[in-house]
Amino acid sequence: MLISELQTPALLVEQAALRHNLDTMTAALPGARLRPHVKAHKCTSLAKLQYANGHRGFTCATVREVEAMAGAGLGEDLLLANEVLDTRRLGRLVDDGHRVTVAVDSAETIEAAVAGGVREVLIDVNVGLPRCGCSPDMAGALADLARRSGLTVRGVMGYEGHLMLVEKEAERRDSTEQAMEHLLAASAAVGGELISAGGTGTYAVNTWADEIQAGSYALMDTAYQQLGQPFRQALFVLGRVISVSSGWAVADVGLKALSLDHGLPRIDGAEVWFCSDEHTTFRPDGMPAPAVGDLVRVQPAHVDPTVALHDSLYLVDGPDVLDRWPVDMRGWR
Ligand code: PLP
Ligand code: MN
Repeated sequence: MLISELQTPALLVEQAALRHNLDTMTAALPGARLRPHVKAHKCTSLAKLQYANGHRGFTCATVREVEAMAGAGLGEDLLLANEVLDTRRLGRLVDDGHRVTVAVDSAETIEAAVAGGVREVLIDVNVGLPRCGCSPDMAGALADLARRSGLTVRGVMGYEGHLMLVEKEAERRDSTEQAMEHLLAASAAVGGELISAGGTGTYAVNTWADEIQAGSYALMDTAYQQLGQPFRQALFVLGRVISVSSGWAVADVGLKALSLDHGLPRIDGAEVWFCSDEHTTFRPDGMPAPAVGDLVRVQPAHVDPTVALHDSLYLVDGPDVLDRWPVDMRGWR
């Protein structure tokens, strides 16, 4: 099948770029040094490639992702790196022999883990991103509470998400060091064997965590492209030009097929003006004059929420469609 036969908009993954990204990251962080975050691709077929590259543990953001990974035979060591109150479905997976570890940052989330039958937790520590995570000086007391409640505390996690897109690498490294000082102090109080942190932006500069939770690196987006890291754009939303006017053209890829929270998408050889529900309006700037029916490859600015809008990823090699992978971890149920 050819990409020209696909209905648009369609999500494309360039096989060569994906392969390059997976292998580049595995060379930098082999085996247990990387705990790939599956929320970026929500696709067990892609997770299987990461597993084949030697990564046995995975990071998840939702109960649905944990369930789908376990169902696909990838449940050796799943970390739900998020606070969760309804833990019943997780307890069932533990009973079925899957290893599931949950992040906790309060007495309530510890109680929920116990009530749902979860047995292992990480203490989630705030390292500077105003989101989840307890204050570092509370981590030891929470770990004590978790152990008294019968849970195994595997260690700590702390996501330095506010530093992922810091432009200068030296600045990113220094800020990451400061963030990780909080996590190491918490780790000393908590004990356990695991210090989990990091993402695509800090994978090369975070030398303090035992394992890095990077996800975006596999598919990439234009926000991460700006950092100049050795990863290639593998993800595109394929669209068709549906209208041409003097000075601009319109593709059938709108904000319902593309997340805009990190900015407008990019089209090579064009300046993107704006996106609306079903349209991207762009001015050709170097590309051949677009004609109605032409295919365009739109590069999203933010990978995770873009993938979550689609039910399939098409693995492609230039004009050829090689495979269709369901985005089988999307949704919540
Ligand atoms: N860990 C957590 C808890 C996250 O929320 C994220 C992304 O938001 C990541 C890791 C890393 O993801 P990425 O590789 O996309 O930066
Ligand atoms: Mn993201």
